[in-house]
Amino acid sequence: MARANLLWLQSGGCGGCTMSLLNAERPDLVSTLENAGIDILWHPSLSEQTGAEVQALLESVIAGETPLDFLCIEGSMLRGPAGTGRFHLLGGTGIPMIQWVSKLAEKARYTLAIGSCAAFGGISSSSDNITDATGLQFEGELRGGLLGSDYKASGGLPVVNVSGCPTHPDWVTETLMQLVLDEGHEDDFDAFFRPRLYTDQLVHHGCNRNEYYEYKASAEEPGDLGCMMEHMGCLGTQAHADCNSRLWNGGGSCTRAGHACINCTAPEFEEPRQSFVETPKIAGIPVGLPTDMPKAWFVALASLSKAATPERLKENARSDHLIYPPTLHKKNHK
Ligand code: SF4
Ligand code: SF4
Repeated sequence: MARANLLWLQSGGCGGCTMSLLNAERPDLVSTLENAGIDILWHPSLSEQTGAEVQALLESVIAGETPLDFLCIEGSMLRGPAGTGRFHLLGGTGIPMIQWVSKLAEKARYTLAIGSCAAFGGISSSSDNITDATGLQFEGELRGGLLGSDYKASGGLPVVNVSGCPTHPDWVTETLMQLVLDEGHEDDFDAFFRPRLYTDQLVHHGCNRNEYYEYKASAEEPGDLGCMMEHMGCLGTQAHADCNSRLWNGGGSCTRAGHACINCTAPEFEEPRQSFVETPKIAGIPVGLPTDMPKAWFVALASLSKAATPERLKENARSDHLIYPPTLHKKNHK
């Protein structure tokens, strides 16, 4: 099989998706790409070439002299000021990054938005968005972005949105492996063109607070062991990602570290319209209810569950350490 190549550029973001990618484990990033037959043409953190050498490389791709399999863009596209893109000139070239990306995207077999900034605008587009930041093919939930809603790479797919803030290293490497084998088809992606290999799960799946969730035994303060949905802003029941079944960096996740899931794989997660660590409620009922669950069911189930909550869970939920372990049932050996 012919080897494929990958070009990675960074724009309006924090570089955290690259940091995350470098944490790829079992196997590591270099071995994964090597075994998948993917060579890095250039990456700002991993490659030696700078300046004129890089410019020459980009120009040769645009001229069609160097074929490009994977164009990976990390960070949002900064269109300001006034549509010129001059808030981000690619170092040494004097040319706005949005122009480089637009031209390179015409040549790529697959274009991937790495992280929620590149996919939807993300944190960089929040608040007043003074840089006019956008995603490659979405601006928040709306199709369009820098490349426009009709864009398709030469491999036949729109921009593949490997969203997350940051994205999980496996989400990137598994998507690349799927595409390099030409096994990426439109129905492998969801409505926001995120790979279903990780968005067919909810963060809630596999959360080790599920017993507390079932009985609505809720955390009330940071560090408490209970479920964080009722008071602490957890969106795990609505967040499409496999963070609690795939786990991060050898075994962690946001909820396992005691933080609410803020649904960072979703467009517009950066503007929750309330604190990230508080659950908005109307008449005491959380506004954001679990995916697929009618409100009336949730209310009925929640009150039944609360009535049946074992004392062990009630007390442990409001504590930062286990107070009551499960009761040990002994057999009666008379
Ligand atoms: S803390 Fe969040 S992810 Fe965990 S059980 Fe509660 S709602 Fe689900
Ligand atoms: S648990 Fe939620 S906030 Fe944390 S990485 Fe996963 S989707 Fe993002």
